[in-house]
Amino acid sequence: MDNFFEKSIDKMRIKNPFNQFKEEEVSFEWRKDPLISKTARIIDSSIIFPDVPDLEELAISSKKDCPFCPEQREKLTARFPEDLIPGGHLKYGECYLIPNILPFSRYVGVIILSDEHFLHIDRFPSDVFTDGLILSKIFIEKLINQDGEVNYCSINWNYLPPAGSSIVHSHLQAVVGKEPTPYQKEVFDQEKKYFIEHKNSFWEDFIKIERKLKERFIMEDEELFWTVSFSPFGMFPDIFVVFKNASSIFDIKEEIFKEFARFATKIMKYLFTKNIYSFNMAVYLSVNNEESYKVHARLTPRVSPRQVGNSDINYFQMLHGEGMCLKMPEKICSEIISFIN
Ligand SMILES: [Zn+2]
Repeated sequence: MDNFFEKSIDKMRIKNPFNQFKEEEVSFEWRKDPLISKTARIIDSSIIFPDVPDLEELAISSKKDCPFCPEQREKLTARFPEDLIPGGHLKYGECYLIPNILPFSRYVGVIILSDEHFLHIDRFPSDVFTDGLILSKIFIEKLINQDGEVNYCSINWNYLPPAGSSIVHSHLQAVVGKEPTPYQKEVFDQEKKYFIEHKNSFWEDFIKIERKLKERFIMEDEELFWTVSFSPFGMFPDIFVVFKNASSIFDIKEEIFKEFARFATKIMKYLFTKNIYSFNMAVYLSVNNEESYKVHARLTPRVSPRQVGNSDINYFQMLHGEGMCLKMPEKICSEIISFIN
């Protein structure tokens, strides 16, 4: 397992204008994800992200004409045909599930999480998030049972516009379809390959190694294993979570989603202390109970690195398919551990 976490360190020499043009070496790391081929470049920068914009103002200005607010919801959102979802939508607690009007998969459910228009990252109610995950599961399982052709599913979240959301009102997206995303395909292929080569599950080895190293390991309980990703997708390190006892969506009990939401909302609180107010999240589920697979999730903070409001997606990620990260995952892990304790 010596090369489980593959990386190399390199550097560039510069004459620094902020230090009398003295010559300095700036080092960076290249890291490969332990399972898939995705890589990332990481710089240990001291950058502080710009102040959070006025979120109250965003909440007020986006509320007018919001199609997800209860007053307008019935007339402005799409409904499912009766044979798919009787009644046209699903409800659980305060969560309300409708079809995405621009679906990129055979079934895409939008889960409006609350009647409340704006839920702040710093005080996001974990029970609201839990209900959204449970309603996503109800929707996904229903469609898997109804349609024998669908093989792939996931629960996703673009929280606020920097993460790609066009609607401020908090909502998840449950996706069910025939074709996998490149990420899903590679994870399924690679973890099967790993199982054949090592006679052991990748996920079990991953947990064992991260637990022993204690470099990126945040916490664990009976069901969930929380780490900071070794090779992040985002400019700020991702949180990577393994559902230890779940091989498919059918294995996830409500209690597990409750614990997941409880701890995820703590992480969201931590992110806000770093001036981060937006993120993407995916829970990568499986339709089949394959022994080697584990349900897992990634929460990727989205940042605007400089005052000018630039995107955190640049040519590196967009055109070269490589992650670019401004903080060391190991340092962020110890910060999170201090914050939650
Ligand atoms: Zn709204």
